[in-house]
Amino acid sequence: MNEKIWLSSPHMGDNEFKYVQEAFETNWIAPLGPHVNGLEEDIAAYLGEDVHVAALSSGTAALHLALIILGVKAGDEVICQTMTFSASANPIAYQGATPVFVDSEEQTWNMSPEHLEAAIQDRLALGKKPKAIIVVHLYGMPAQMDRIMAIADKYEIPVVEDAAEALGSSYKGQKLGTFGAMSILSFNGNKIITTSGGGALISKNEEWIKQSRFLATQARDNAPHYQHSHIGYNYRMSNICAGIGRGQMEVLPQRVEKRRSNYEFYKETFAGVDSMRFAEEPNEDYYSNRWLSTVMIEGGEIDRETLRLHLEQDNIESRPLWKPMHLQPVFADAPFYGDGTSERLFENGLCLPSGSNLTNTDLDRVKKRMLEALHPKQV
Ligand SMILES: *Cc1c(COP(=O)(O)O)cnc(C)c1O
Repeated sequence: MNEKIWLSSPHMGDNEFKYVQEAFETNWIAPLGPHVNGLEEDIAAYLGEDVHVAALSSGTAALHLALIILGVKAGDEVICQTMTFSASANPIAYQGATPVFVDSEEQTWNMSPEHLEAAIQDRLALGKKPKAIIVVHLYGMPAQMDRIMAIADKYEIPVVEDAAEALGSSYKGQKLGTFGAMSILSFNGNKIITTSGGGALISKNEEWIKQSRFLATQARDNAPHYQHSHIGYNYRMSNICAGIGRGQMEVLPQRVEKRRSNYEFYKETFAGVDSMRFAEEPNEDYYSNRWLSTVMIEGGEIDRETLRLHLEQDNIESRPLWKPMHLQPVFADAPFYGDGTSERLFENGLCLPSGSNLTNTDLDRVKKRMLEALHPKQV
């Protein structure tokens, strides 16, 4: 059996271990410490726009705190992109609120501004003003942020930007993760950089970030004894994980460059295959980190699943696109506004091996196996 080629696996740089060792040597093995503060500063400096950052235990925790701070409560409604990973929507349910799912558009595969506005108008007509809008930048591709922010402003609904997959991407030269009233990042093991597990909450509102750090460390009031006037959470990042993160932030620009070059490789290799359509940046306003290289397979001799299984036979991991949330059994009762775009993406879309540690030999192996599957008669 050939060695496994992963969809997206951790890729350490030169200094992660040094930072972790420093944490050991100074005995900062706690869910706070100098690397946590350092990582927050590194992320804020990278993103620009005068943002403040709280390093947390996961992207999911960051989304949960964002909704809590925006005042989402039981019985409320929160609009969420349907085409996403379940972690975008689950925190809505943690709060006892109801997700209202909105379909994708064709260009970026992210939230459709048309369906967003239709959803808002319909919910308002029903007497339910949505408390927040969760927009996602899938696979690193920026959503149509100008249009989405304009709609959010018009109806005065705060945007929570799920940039878990989009660190290093930008829209009109502004880094993703700086557009929302609050934004989140993930440093899970499969993301463009990783702290093994971790995330961050980002906002220009410093009070909110301070509040998130307070809630993330069990909401201890300022007293010598343990005094609590809020329900707290154990959501802070550990100093060990933050040490890994500091090393990873140093290599982030190279990781983006390599992931973008993976995408270019696939696009050039399969340029002549009519049944394969790559997710192109719509124009120069859009800059994707290409966290995952994705492709739609439609109208040819083979379908997505045949291709995926063919790759799997050679120990190459590829994966269907996210299954939309409105099709998930757990969210079967949630309202949905759309036209079937995300369903088609799910039926025919595939994520190809995209790690920044893929070698040319790995890429050539993927190419060979894909060509075999695409042109079965010529092999
Ligand atoms: C990974 C991911 C998350 C969750 O991040 P974790 O750090 O794994 O909790 C949320 N949203 C999207 C779109 C993701 O891809």
